[in-house]
This record gives sequence, structure tokens and C-alpha cells, in this order.
Amino acid sequence: MTIFKKTKNVNQCPYCAGQGYFQLRLGGSETCSCCSGSGKK
Ligand SMILES: [Zn+2]
Repeated sequence: MTIFKKTKNVNQCPYCAGQGYFQLRLGGSETCSCCSGSGKK
């Protein structure tokens, strides 16, 4: 029985993976509206 502790990304924004912005396919980036660019939850 294996238990995975998911504590690594607990404080990261789930939408931008802690980056604070989205990388757009067309080029450039867009600030994450969920965390306002902080990358934290
Ligand atoms: Zn975010």
C-alpha cells in the first residue's frame, strides 16, 4: 500500500501551475486571472 503525499504543489495555483501566467500558443503570455500573476493559491 502506497500513500502519496501531495504537499509539493499545495500552495501553487492549479490553473497556471505556479507560474502566474499562461503561455499562449500564438505567442506571448497572459497573466493568470486566478492568482493575479502571483502563482500562489
Ligand atoms: Zn494562477
